[in-house]
This record gives sequence, C-alpha cells and structure tokens, in this order.
Amino acid sequence: MPLEKPPTVILWFRKDLRLDDNQALHAAIGSGGDIVPVYIREPQALNVGPLGGAQDWWLHHSLSALKTSLRSVSSDLVLLSGQAVDVLARLAKETGADTVFINRAYERDVVDREIVAQLKAQGIRLIAFHGKLLHEPGRIRTGSGGSFKVFTPFWNAIQKLGEPHEPVDAPANVPAPEHLPRSEDLESWALLPSKPDWASDFSKLWTPGEQGAKDKLEAFIGRDLQDYKRGRDLPAVDATSTLSAHLAHGEISPARVWHATRNLPRSSAEEVSHFRRELAWRDFCYSLLEELPRLDEVNWDRKFDAMQWHYDPAEFNAWTRGQTGYPIVDAGMRQLWRYGFMHNRVRMITASFLIKDLMIDWRKGEKWFRDTLVDADPANNAGNWQWVAGSGADASPFFRVFNPVLQGEKFDAEGDYVREHVPELARLDSKYIHRPFDAPPQVLAKAGIELGKTYPKPIIDHGFARDRALAAYRALRGGG
Ligand code: FAD
Repeated sequence: MPLEKPPTVILWFRKDLRLDDNQALHAAIGSGGDIVPVYIREPQALNVGPLGGAQDWWLHHSLSALKTSLRSVSSDLVLLSGQAVDVLARLAKETGADTVFINRAYERDVVDREIVAQLKAQGIRLIAFHGKLLHEPGRIRTGSGGSFKVFTPFWNAIQKLGEPHEPVDAPANVPAPEHLPRSEDLESWALLPSKPDWASDFSKLWTPGEQGAKDKLEAFIGRDLQDYKRGRDLPAVDATSTLSAHLAHGEISPARVWHATRNLPRSSAEEVSHFRRELAWRDFCYSLLEELPRLDEVNWDRKFDAMQWHYDPAEFNAWTRGQTGYPIVDAGMRQLWRYGFMHNRVRMITASFLIKDLMIDWRKGEKWFRDTLVDADPANNAGNWQWVAGSGADASPFFRVFNPVLQGEKFDAEGDYVREHVPELARLDSKYIHRPFDAPPQVLAKAGIELGKTYPKPIIDHGFARDRALAAYRALRGGG
C-alpha cells in the first residue's frame, strides 16, 4: 500500500531571507510535505515601529533575490499583504496546510505570541526555530539564572557555551505543490523611492540578498581579518565586514559568519576573537530587547526619565543634513544619507554630538537612524543609542563627552574620511581638516572655503555644550 504523502506546510519568511542555514526551511523539508514559501507585508510589522525608508529599498531587492533563489530550487516566493493571521489562515485553507514553520524574530515575540494563539484557535500550528542569533537568548544566564546587564560577563558566558550550532547548507530542492498560490507583484508594493530617488548611490555599496552577503563574507575572510582590531576604528579604512544589513535581514546567519572565521591561516586568534566579540554585541542587544521590548522608547535606566532635553528643530535639521560645522559629524551624517550606512566609530561620535552637545533626546536620533540605515536593527540601534546616551544597561558614562575635533584627529588623522564625504573641505590642510573654524583666513581662502557660506560655522561651541551636558548629568544624579 503506498504511503500517504504528508500534508503541505507553510514556510513564513520574515527576518530570515535566506536558504542557507535556515532551520525552519530545513525542518519544513524534513516534514516530507510540499512547501508554500510566503512573505507577508504586514501593516504594522514590528512591535518596535515600522521599517524605515532605507530598509524598504533593501527589502525590495532582498525579496527579489530570494524569489530567484527559490526558483532555482524548483519553488517560488509567494508575496501577500495583510494581517499575518488572516493571510496565514487563508493560505492554510487554500493549500490544505495545517502547520506554519518560522524562524524566531525576537523583536516581534509579543506580536507572534498573539498570532500563535489565534492560529491555534483555527487548528493551525506554528512551529518556531532558532537561528537569528549565535545562541538563544534564554541560554545565556548569570550564575543565579538571571540575565546579564553588562557586556563583558555576557561575552565570557558565550565563550563558555562553546561554538554556535553547525550551519546547515542550502537545500538543492524545495518541494513545491503543483500550483503555488497566486503571488502579489513586488513592484506593486512600491518599496523603492522614486521622486526623488534618494537611494541612487546605495547599489554602489550594496547587493541585497544571500549572494551579496556571501560575497561580503568571502571578501572579509579573504583579508583574513588581519587589521580588524586596529582598523575597525578608522572610518577611512575598509577593515570591517559590512555584513550588518545582511545580518539585519537574515540573509546570512551569525552561526555561518562565526564558523567562517575558524582556522584562518594568517590571522591571529586575537583578531578573530575581537570580531566574534562584536558579533556577540548583537546577541547582547537582543538579550536586552527580550527584557525590555520597548528598548527604542523606554530608558533602561529610569532615572533618565527626568532628563531635561532641549529640542531645537533647526539644530536637529543641521545634524540630519550634515551641516553642523564639525567635519567628522557632517561626514558621518552625509555618509548615512548617501549610502544608508555609517562607520561604527562615527555612529558613536554623531550620536554623542546629538545627545550631549545638542542635548536632543536620544530617541529622536534612534528614529532618524532607523529610517536611514540599511542595517537598522531594533535591538542594535536602540541598544547602542541608549549606550551612548548613558541611559542603557551597559552604558557609556554620561560624563564621557566626545570632543568631535579630537575624535576626528585621532581616528581620521589625515582627514581622508572627511574629504570623501564633505567635498567642500577636500582641499583644506590636514592640520585644520577637523577644525576649519580655527584656520587662518589665508588657509581657508587657499582651500576655497568661506565659512558660513561654502561650509557652516559650528552650530554650537563644544566647550559650552560640554559644561551644559555635565550640569544636566549632575542634576540627574541629584548632585546639584
Ligand atoms: P563589523 O565590525 O564587521 O561587526 C560584525 C557584526 O557585528 C556587525 O555586522 C553587527 O551585526 C555586529 N556588531 C558590531 N558592532 C556592534 C554593536 N556595537 N552592537 C551590536 N552589534 C554590533 N548595528 C546594526 O546592525 N544596526 C543598527 O541599527 C545599529 N545602530 C547603531 C547605532 C549607534 C548609535 C551605534 C553607536 C552603533 C549602531 N550599530 C548598529 C552597531 C555598529 O555600528 C554596526 O553594527 C557596525 O558599524 C556595522 O558594520 P560592520 O557590519 O562592518 O561591523
């Protein structure tokens, strides 16, 4: 008697837009049933706010790449819009499926719990797998079973856990039913900007999709991480992996990235360990998000609720447009606008400038980054903004106020990064590249700069701003 074929299952893609090391896909294949791969455009996708414009651009290309990959393994991607529960219930009815496979996306745990309950009431099971992080957040615990609030002990605990899971390769075939349900047209989702097309330079740096992620990883590994520890702080040097946007969309798994750094012939254990430590920051930020789902809105340290912020819209605009008169800040903000990315060191400098020099609430900066970064990540963005603000779990002390001139001179000594992103300063002598306001008139004239006309004067005096920030901090601590 022929064995009965197992029922069709639904594979719901979310922040895991890949075939490689995809545990939910692997399990769906293991079920023996045909698979209906679906991506749902939900009206309110995340409990931590919608995707930003830069990520819409990315998502368009990433979905298109995933569709192509699925077609190459005899399947396809079905695109549907609506509330996830309704779409999944309809799809289950249409295809005869009673199970949905997903990979957990921790930022939407609250929403997902509701979806599980509602589907269950309709006789549909939702089975969740792990793979977004190096380790499940719940596995990394202090001796007394609590969660870590400080990164270093968290990192020590990760190292004790051993290697993350061995990645599973992409399948050669994804069994599909004879007729996949009708898909919406990706173009009709209008994810790409048109008038104006502010993303026109994005594709110079980025190839969204799994292949783009693999290429970036290979290029990074090919350099053997040789200069990672020193070079990662220098914005003009190409020393980091630039994998963040791929990781944020789940086009590559962190386990795959971790395992790729094993047995590198030329790199020192120290370089590899440093890189893995950065990857672990991602896990750390997610462990904070698990504990405080509104990490983008709520001060981890509730003392900061009493902070007296000063919102000046003109100053905020100058910051967003890279017109503050501090070259390293302006270079960072313009890199962000043009490419949807900013170097990590400069993220810290620009965030510190917004919060401590302009005294603007960190949440405004978090939202701006969320809208403009291709790697905008609910845990990493909010976690790092709170870190810079001093309101976070493991936070930079509030009294550490970055001096944008000294930071520029230390990490971009020749001004190469500034020259690239602030071309009106390109001909300025290196001695003044981070402090054009101190340059003698003849030096400025020689470089073709007229302060206040071709490049702004500083919108705030850093010395004054520093004293103001320290006074606000002391007031918060009850120090008068
Ligand atoms: P690499 O140095 O190659 O690091 C490898 C990976 O480790 C990164 O891709 C990223 O996934 C992770 N990682 C590295 N540094 C951190 C960190 N500090 N926190 C958490 N994970 C880290 N990163 C995001 O992915 N999304 C964000 O929205 C984001 N917002 C930030 C906002 C601020 C104010 C600051 C200071 C940092 C932010 N970061 C964010 C962290 C960091 O700047 C980027 O992850 C990094 O610059 C990405 O470049 P890379 O992939 O070349 O990093």
